[in-house]
Amino acid sequence: NVDRVFQYRIPPELLARVRVGVRVLAPFGRGNTLRKGYVVSLSHTPSFAPERLKDLKGVDPGAVSVQEQMICLAWWMKERYGATMNQALKTVMPVKSAVAPKEEKTIVSLRSREELSELLKEAEKKKYKARIRLFKALLENGELPYRLTAQKLGLTAASLRPLEERGILRIRTEEKSRDPVKGRALASAPVLLNEEQKRAADTVKASMDAGEARTWLLYGITGSGKTEVYMELIAHVLAQGRQVIVLIPEISLTYQTVMRFYRRFGSRVSIINSRLSAGERYDQLARAARGNIDIMIGPRSALFTPFENLGLIIIDEEHEGAYQSEQSPRYHAREVAAMRASMNGASLVLGSATPSVESFYKAEQGEYGLLTLGRRANRNSRLARVHVTDLREELAEGNRSMFSRKLRELMEERLLRKEQIMLFMNRRGYAGFVSCRSCGEAIRCPHCDVSLTYHRDGVLRCHYCGHEVRMPKRCPVCGSPYIAPFGSGTQKLEELTRRTFPQARVLRMDADTTAKKGAHEEILEAFMEGEADILIGTQMIVKGHDFPRVTLVGVMAADLSLYAPDFRSSERTFELLTQASGRAGRGELPGDVVIQTYAPDHFAITAAAEQDYGQFYRQELLYRKMMGYPPAVGLLSIQLSSRKEEAAAAAMEDMHQWIQRTFCLEGLSIIGPVNGSPYKVNDIYRKILYIKNESYDILLKVRKSAQKREAEDERYKNVSFQAAVQ
Ligand code: ADP
Ligand code: ZN
Ligand code: ZN
Repeated sequence: NVDRVFQYRIPPELLARVRVGVRVLAPFGRGNTLRKGYVVSLSHTPSFAPERLKDLKGVDPGAVSVQEQMICLAWWMKERYGATMNQALKTVMPVKSAVAPKEEKTIVSLRSREELSELLKEAEKKKYKARIRLFKALLENGELPYRLTAQKLGLTAASLRPLEERGILRIRTEEKSRDPVKGRALASAPVLLNEEQKRAADTVKASMDAGEARTWLLYGITGSGKTEVYMELIAHVLAQGRQVIVLIPEISLTYQTVMRFYRRFGSRVSIINSRLSAGERYDQLARAARGNIDIMIGPRSALFTPFENLGLIIIDEEHEGAYQSEQSPRYHAREVAAMRASMNGASLVLGSATPSVESFYKAEQGEYGLLTLGRRANRNSRLARVHVTDLREELAEGNRSMFSRKLRELMEERLLRKEQIMLFMNRRGYAGFVSCRSCGEAIRCPHCDVSLTYHRDGVLRCHYCGHEVRMPKRCPVCGSPYIAPFGSGTQKLEELTRRTFPQARVLRMDADTTAKKGAHEEILEAFMEGEADILIGTQMIVKGHDFPRVTLVGVMAADLSLYAPDFRSSERTFELLTQASGRAGRGELPGDVVIQTYAPDHFAITAAAEQDYGQFYRQELLYRKMMGYPPAVGLLSIQLSSRKEEAAAAAMEDMHQWIQRTFCLEGLSIIGPVNGSPYKVNDIYRKILYIKNESYDILLKVRKSAQKREAEDERYKNVSFQAAVQ
């Protein structure tokens, strides 16, 4: 009976000390005995008659342990995202799981840097490929993990033996280190921050020193040196004996990125990522709890690292979709981070070259402090020139190839100059879909409401459920033999690139070529090493990788993401185009970007072409205000889904009417119900209802009651319920 939330009034003398996560003394029951409880949320709107609310009696001075904090965070997540307490607890607390100690081998250099450089030159003269890579790696890191290095560099025990015999290196065997960051980095001195970086870092440091716990948006163009600012802030927080969590989207969490932190902070850094086993993960979190490390780097789940005295959370690339959990509780890392930071009196820094509209809006409203880095940190690197080519015009002039004339011309030039090129195409597979020229039908997935994608192995695949069929000889609807693939994906782009530029070496990176463990890093590294001239890929290739020799980026079809049925489609498009453009000219060589599109006048494309976030943001906000989308108003979406189409429809009908009736005085604006997009996925039909209101609290209330009705009413028996407030 007491396992729920109770509301209390905060008397003025306690106002300053009561925040979420704090333990308080509250009068309870008829006798008003004082009991201890945790504050799970603060609100301006009482759920009962104000005169019936009791006053809190005090703040419990005992320290709140990190365990208790996590329980409190779980409660907050349960309330905010409508999950069960069990799901929420599982998310914030790692399941205990053991790792057996293992032997581990390390390659240790026995030579000085100078000697290694000499050896490298010698190997280069003799063109010993594997040795060149080995010496380069040793120069950078001094020690290397044996297994990973051997695998990556193509070295065998036999090929290492001569080097051991010559006394160049030694293979050390020891009990496996508990440190998932393999290889010891040579410590490097911090770079000297430039004016802008210094101003940003000093602003945050001053606020921390004043005991504030603010949220900051660090808006800095690609290559402006955000990471260096993070490291400066981390050093400041560590010096105060507090700990730091750094979130980086998994896809950007490469060896290079981690090593950068490692070089600066050494073994006080740990990482968690999806490649760790449950045992290894648990081990890392336990090290954090014991105080063996101070910095945890990882994807969104790193937020739940049990640091006792957390002083700072950094979210790099804060606009990334990967920060949204797909499983219940469907939390957004940004929101949970803000809550965890506020429980600890920690600061939160959100960094991006293309901030989410939500975050920039909050910065504009003064809720977040805004820090801006407007110039590239490396003085010799300039922003790329952007060319927009109109594909309609190309067609009108008789160019039917996938390459506009401008892109083709620039590609030829780069290949001659031996510079690298990236081609970005936001669709994998060979063709978009297969359709029949006689009856016009596209071949669809039997389980989903989408057409199948043609892959080069002659297989049609569903990108939603994975269903596969061989390409039929005749149209399954009318039997006509005139069926053919239309549209293009990365496979076709690869084929055409090889055909158009036979002299070029081409690599492709998408979900199909990276299905194998480690394949993702292998491709990136091969490209980094100059083993290919052109890297073709989906959005995987545009995220945060730094290739100094890339001087041309081609965006093959900028419109693909523009017409997705989502109010964030322009934002996604702008983000992808800007991040893709940021890949060109990272080094000393000037870069070009070619954006190919059928909609050259769309504001997301013109703003991206001018690399002008402000221009995009103003237009987009205007649109959101006009249409009533977040962040201008709150949006609750309720999805009811079922294997039985009628069940989903009937339940939604009831939900719609019931909400209208129950909340008729709240002034909700209700849109729909509409079919999900796609309507059917994996044989499950999805109906969605959208509800808008200025007040977030009201939407949370609506969601809570809707959830209750779903749980209690017969009509929802075969239906599953999902709801999100944004
Ligand atoms: P971002 O995170 O904003 O993309 P990075 O921190 O990765 O930018 O910096 C881009 C490049 O500029 C890196 O190679 C980095 O080492 C370099 N850099 C950053 N700050 C400075 C500085 N103050 N002086 C010299 N080089 C810098
Ligand atoms: Zn047909
Ligand atoms: Zn399917």
